[in-house]
Amino acid sequence: MAFEFERKQRIAVIGGGPGGYEAALAGAQLGADVTIVERTGIGGSAVITDVVPSKTLIATAEAARNIPDAVGLGVQFYTRTDAGKPTRPEVAVNLAAVNKRVLGLARQQSEDMRAELVRAGVKIIDGVGRLDGENAVVVSTAGGGHGTDFDRIEADTIVISTGASPRELPSAKPDGERILTWTQLYTLQDLPEHLIVVGSGVTGAEFASAYMNLGAKVTLVSSRDQVLPGEDSDAAAILEKVFTRGGMTLLSKSRAASVERTDDGVRVRLSDGREIEGSHCLMAVGSVPNTQGIGLEEAGVQLTESGHIRVNRVARTSVPNIYAAGDCSDVLPLASVAFMQGRTAVFHAMGDAVNPIELRNVTSNIFTQPEIATVGWNQKQIEDGLAQGEIYKLPLSVNARAKMQNIKDGFVKIFARTGSGTVIGGVIVAPRASELIFPLALAVEHRLTVDQVARAYAVFPSLSGSITDAARAMHIVG
Ligand SMILES: Cc1cc2nc3c(=O)[nH]c(=O)nc-3n(C[C@H](O)[C@H](O)[C@H](O)COP(=O)(O)OP(=O)(O)OC[C@H]3O[C@@H](n4cnc5c(N)ncnc54)[C@H](O)[C@@H]3O)c2cc1C
Repeated sequence: MAFEFERKQRIAVIGGGPGGYEAALAGAQLGADVTIVERTGIGGSAVITDVVPSKTLIATAEAARNIPDAVGLGVQFYTRTDAGKPTRPEVAVNLAAVNKRVLGLARQQSEDMRAELVRAGVKIIDGVGRLDGENAVVVSTAGGGHGTDFDRIEADTIVISTGASPRELPSAKPDGERILTWTQLYTLQDLPEHLIVVGSGVTGAEFASAYMNLGAKVTLVSSRDQVLPGEDSDAAAILEKVFTRGGMTLLSKSRAASVERTDDGVRVRLSDGREIEGSHCLMAVGSVPNTQGIGLEEAGVQLTESGHIRVNRVARTSVPNIYAAGDCSDVLPLASVAFMQGRTAVFHAMGDAVNPIELRNVTSNIFTQPEIATVGWNQKQIEDGLAQGEIYKLPLSVNARAKMQNIKDGFVKIFARTGSGTVIGGVIVAPRASELIFPLALAVEHRLTVDQVARAYAVFPSLSGSITDAARAMHIVG
């Protein structure tokens, strides 16, 4: 139940990505007077340059991969030469058409979200916002810099949701043509002959996987000894196997010292002196929060050393009426988390019922092929003694449906509390693992035991049958 105010509560939101969008909608739902300031487009980087474009590109990569994979199921593709001899056609991707679709889809999604805000009664200002103390936001609009053509919004509550931008290294400056950040990939008209991806975290791995499946030669440069540092190491090992099998070159323990243009491509120098030449280089070396120059310090908002805004579990900053949601804050950089933080912030500010954010229960997915989905505690934390848990891993190779579909790589792994059998986490590596993880996410959120999970009927044959099979195998004999 929202508090009754004599006048409507005024909420100002800076940034229209998932965090800001959801904060604005929540405010409108609770009857506040909401203004959102956005400099690029509603939907934010998530919709315009990051999540939506990358996952749309990956949908094409998946479709391209399914064609040769169908051969393993006995499907034959051939055409006939003039002489009537069967020949196998090549799978080719028209990247210009793919990227046109990607950008069109992102634009449409942004427009749909803008229309939704307008429908809810949110006022949208296109411009650059900054705090002016604790209770106001000033906006420089298209007319020029601050002070020339600007709006001032007085607000009871302010939500900062300015997101993050690709990290750029001085020795590897993106030029938008050959040396690219992930936001610049969609101008490519042709598939890169040889794409060198620097950085093997989630973003690097997703693009390396996608371009490999689109048909490009790919080299992945990783400073660690395994791709996906910090993720489940069995999952990372499967991905490395799949990457190598697909023809990708993996350079582990290799730090890129510099990237420069050559006459017709790029040269990546590694810190051990080796050099690799390619046609293009994608820099995927992390993000920096967009928190500079927007009046945070002046308003007394505390930042971490990395420049992220320090928030508590209801997204409140060190200034009580200022909240921060999404990648500019010091929590997990995921769109799903940004949405949740935006809503939680406004519900908290307006006195509605809130559940403080439980990061332990966040589900996330790496959109490689196969996908890697995770929830809850991870194996390393259990092995390090941070959580008391049993670990059970069931390879998909024993699953009947996986055999039928010729799925060779993947597993279901469940972590359950020692003694009680309560599910505390899990990992699924499989095609569309993002869709399969949800039963484990429910189990973690609602503290179900492995026996309770095992009691649910999974369809036979189905990949989700491996979840109930794994849960059944973890039964503690009473
Ligand atoms: C390649 C890639 C793929 C990803 N895939 C996924 C995925 O599959 N699933 C997932 O959950 N997450 C994914 N993420 C993470 C996800 O993109 C972010 O967590 C999400 O965008 C965070 O939302 P946000 O609202 O904090 O910020 P953003 O989406 O970055 O939006 C912030 C907005 O604020 C605006 N802004 C900034 N400063 C100002 C200012 N001063 N005034 C006005 N406007 C301003 C920006 O223009 C931007 O539009 C991916 C990230 C990358 C890089």
